[in-house]
This record gives sequence, C-alpha cells and structure tokens, in this order.
Amino acid sequence: MPRYEEDRIDYLFKLVIVGDSGVGKTSLLLKYVDDVFTDTFISTIGVDFKIRTFDMDGKKVKLQIWDTAGQDRFKNIVSTFYRNAHGILLVYDVTDVTSFQNIQQWLKEIDKYAGQKAKQVLVGNKCDLAPRRQVSLEEGRALAATTSMMHIETSAKTSANLEALFSDLTRDLMANFEPVNY
Ligand code: GDP
Repeated sequence: MPRYEEDRIDYLFKLVIVGDSGVGKTSLLLKYVDDVFTDTFISTIGVDFKIRTFDMDGKKVKLQIWDTAGQDRFKNIVSTFYRNAHGILLVYDVTDVTSFQNIQQWLKEIDKYAGQKAKQVLVGNKCDLAPRRQVSLEEGRALAATTSMMHIETSAKTSANLEALFSDLTRDLMANFEPVNY
C-alpha cells in the first residue's frame, strides 16, 4: 500500500505516566491530548493510552502516552507497561507530601522494569493549588538533581507548563533516539 505524505511520522515515542493514585496522571493526559479537565476523580481501568501527533522543529512526532491505575491486580502487566518506553513521567502532587516521598518507590520500580535509556521527568502537578502546597519547587528540583531527572511543575487544571513538559521531553528524545524507519 502506498504511504501518503500525511501518514509520514519521523519520530514515534512511547511515554508512560506513573505516580500515586490521585496525583493527576489521567488529568494530565486528558488535558494534554483532548484539552479537557474535570474536577472529579477519573478512574483508569488497568492501562490505557492516548496518541498525540504534532510538528516539532520541522519533524512529525507521534507520542503514544500510557496511563495506568497501578492497582496490585495489574502488577502482572507492569513489565509490558514499561517495555520500550522512551520517556517516563514520575508525577507527584505538590499538595501531598506522601506522593512526593513515594517517588522513591516509583524509581525502584522503574529501575527494575524500564530500559536504561528511558528519559525520566519528575513532574510536580497541581501547582495551581498554591495555598495547599506541601512540597516546594526547591525540594522538587533537589530530588530531580540527585538522579539527573528533568523537573517541572504543572497544572492539569490551568494547563500551566503542560505544553512545555511534553515539548521539552520530546526535544530531548529526538536528540537521543533514532527516527523511525518509515
Ligand atoms: P490519577 O489517579 O493520578 O490519574 O489522578 P486524576 O487525574 O484522577 O486526578 C485526581 C484528582 O485531582 C481529580 O479530582 C482531579 O480533578 C484533580 N486534579 C488533577 N490534576 C489537577 C491539577 O493540576 N490541579 C487541581 N486543582 N486538581 C487536579
């Protein structure tokens, strides 16, 4: 079958989003891909992914972004979830210090299942909730620095830094991974 110009993809990246329940993983994904936000808790059934395609520096990029509920009963698919991931978003909630402390557990899981080349980004979500903040920008930066992660604070509600998060990561991945061969 002939491949039409509009089908052409230069880069295809698999991204996975991890972090404690309630930090806003599904909200970040829905806001970024579909531009919708809801104040209610969105339940993820097992694992789900969404696609966004866009132009970056003259190249066509397709992001396949995976979200997971992370319940124990899905543990058997955890290795599939991380397999071949190019980028990993480790999300905590800036108003929930426990979700920040638990990033250490997520790092252990990533260490076990994800490839060495996968780029990690530490994401402090819900930065719109300033009065309820429990984790400072500096604490986020310091943790990211210890493991050479990128760090950014976002809001799935106001869209703050949402485009920056995905475009900074995409640029980094384009510099570190080969284009796709079709
Ligand atoms: P997940 O379990 O990590 O996928 O979290 P959800 O996406 O289901 O979000 C949990 C709750 O946090 C929901 O009530 C969302 O509306 C809320 N939420 C998510 N992101 C933000 C944000 O950036 N700001 C605010 N104020 N609320 C958020």
